[in-house]
Amino acid sequence: MSWTHILGHPERVESFRGIVARGRLAHAYLFVGPVGVGKKLFARELAKTLLCESTSPGRDALNACDQCDACLLVDAGTHPDLFMIGRPEDKNEFPIEVMKQFLHDFSLKTARGRGKIAIVDDADDFNDESANAFLKTLEEPPPGSVFFLIGTSLDRQLLTIRSRCQLVRFAPLADAHVRTLLQKQEINDGAMLDRLVRLAGGSPGQALALADESLWKFRRELLTGFTQPKIDSVGLAKSFVEFAEEAGKEAASQRRRASQMLRLIIESFTDALRVQAGAAARSADSAELPLLASLAQRAAPEKIHALLERCLETETHLGRYVQVSLVVEGLMDALGQLLEQAGPLPVRYQGFSV
Ligand SMILES: [Zn+2]
Repeated sequence: MSWTHILGHPERVESFRGIVARGRLAHAYLFVGPVGVGKKLFARELAKTLLCESTSPGRDALNACDQCDACLLVDAGTHPDLFMIGRPEDKNEFPIEVMKQFLHDFSLKTARGRGKIAIVDDADDFNDESANAFLKTLEEPPPGSVFFLIGTSLDRQLLTIRSRCQLVRFAPLADAHVRTLLQKQEINDGAMLDRLVRLAGGSPGQALALADESLWKFRRELLTGFTQPKIDSVGLAKSFVEFAEEAGKEAASQRRRASQMLRLIIESFTDALRVQAGAAARSADSAELPLLASLAQRAAPEKIHALLERCLETETHLGRYVQVSLVVEGLMDALGQLLEQAGPLPVRYQGFSV
C-alpha cells in the first residue's frame, strides 16, 4: 500500500496527512535536505495520493489506492497532470529553455480534472533567469495545482523562490533504514553492506552510487600505485581516465564516475588519518588494510591533509565542468608529487599497527 516503501520521514508523512485532511494544502513546497535521502520519492508518493481517483476524504486522503488509472499512470511515469523536471545532467544551471517549456505545458488545461502537480528538482541550480520566469506562476498558480521544489540546503535557494514556498526539511535516514533499502536493491554481501552503510551518512542514494564493485576494484589499483616507491602518475591518470570513460560516451556520465572515484580516494586518505590516530578504518576492507597502512606510513598527517585538500579542489573542478581528463591528469600529477616528497615519517607516527 501507499507509503510503505518510503522508509524514514514518518513525521513528514503524518504532517502532510493532517494538512490534506484539513484541506490546508499550500500551492508550493520547498523540500530541502541531503542528497539521496528520498525527497523526490516522497514528493512523487505525495503527488500520487493527490492525483489518486479513489481516495476517501479525511485522514485516508493520503493513502493512494495504487490501483486506479491515475495511480497506475503515476507509477508508469506517464500521468498527464504530473510534471517532473530538473536541470539536465550536462548543464551547470537550470536552463531558461527547460523552464519556459515547462511553464507553457503546465499552463494548459488539466487532463484528468484533479489539478496539476509539478516536481521541480535541482532548485539549488536556478539562475536568475529561470527563477524569474518561474516566479509569476509560482505566485499565481493555475487553480488546484501544487509545486514541490527539491533542493539540498536552504542557503542555496534564491530568496525570491524560497519566500513563496512552505519549507519542509528532510533529515538523513537511520542506518537501519539505509541497510534495509540497500538489501531491497539486492546488495547482500555483508562486508559491502557494512561498508556502504558506514559511508552513506544516512543517504541511501549516496550509498547506492558507491555500490558498484568496479569502483572499489579500481580504488585498490590506485592505492597500490600510491604506495609504490616511484609513483607512475602518468600511468595512473591514463587508467583513471579510461575508468571514467567506461561509464559511456556522455561527458556527464564520465564526470559522475570520476566524482564517485574521487569520493573513494578521499575516503582512503581519511582512513589513513584514522589509522595514524589509532582508530579503525571506515571504508577499507581487510584486503585494503595493508595498503592503507603503507600509505599511512609514507605520509605524515600534514601531508595527508595536503592530499585531501587537493582532492577537494578537484571535486570543485569536476563540478565546474572542466574536461574530465584534464582534471584527472592534474590530480594524479599533484598527488604523485606530494607523496614522493613525503619523505620518512616522523618518529612519533612510526610503529602503529592496523
Ligand atoms: Zn488510486
